[in-house]
Amino acid sequence: MSQECELLEKCGFFKKYNEINSLACRGFIANYCKGPKIDQCKRKEYRNRYGVPPSDDMMPDGQMYSG
Ligand code: SF4
Repeated sequence: MSQECELLEKCGFFKKYNEINSLACRGFIANYCKGPKIDQCKRKEYRNRYGVPPSDDMMPDGQMYSG
């Protein structure tokens, strides 16, 4: 299965954090953006619910990035 979130290229979280913490970002991509949790992404859920993207600091699991 090679599914990929259509938002990956413009996802604020990855744009902001990929350079700072690429290891964690890669983990999220593997799990959410291209992985088994692709339909459980809280960022996507937020965007669908409110019509705007969430804070760049919100991680795919819904927690705020801190550090
Ligand atoms: S974090 Fe969520 S919205 Fe962003 S690219 Fe990954 S799956 Fe898509």
